[in-house]
Amino acid sequence: MITNVDEGVDWMELTVSNSEWDLMRVVWSLDQATSAQIIAGIQTQRSWSASTIKTMLKRLVDKGWLTFTKQGRRFNYQATIDEHTAMSQRVADCFAQICDMHKGEILYQVIDNAALSQSDIEKLQILLAQKALTAPQAVACNCIECRQCQEEEK
Ligand SMILES: [Zn+2]
Repeated sequence: MITNVDEGVDWMELTVSNSEWDLMRVVWSLDQATSAQIIAGIQTQRSWSASTIKTMLKRLVDKGWLTFTKQGRRFNYQATIDEHTAMSQRVADCFAQICDMHKGEILYQVIDNAALSQSDIEKLQILLAQKALTAPQAVACNCIECRQCQEEEK
């Protein structure tokens, strides 16, 4: 999927692999980084070779997630999208693939397994109280012919 994004980037491929995502997290944490810094950063977590990482960096440039400038023989990489926007997009894409009827129970599990601060919990409680004012008794299945969901709906 290709979309337009702001700030000078003409296009961007929305999907990145889990490995590419791990590499993006290193770039985000370093802000602007040389390939050597990125390689050193990711190699503290993964046993990928420098050439594998360089190939992945190139692919992320091709996908529009990274830009680079060249200083002599050094490449400086920078993310074209901020981490928070990318995280929201990734989770929203994932949730869009789940049947509406099951989103509540999946969220329950996600919240159950997440490390949450007092302020996170406070915000969630306020949001849920607001949602409770207008929430329906049941959420309908929106699968295309999902027998399992339709059985549960009865
Ligand atoms: Zn369904």
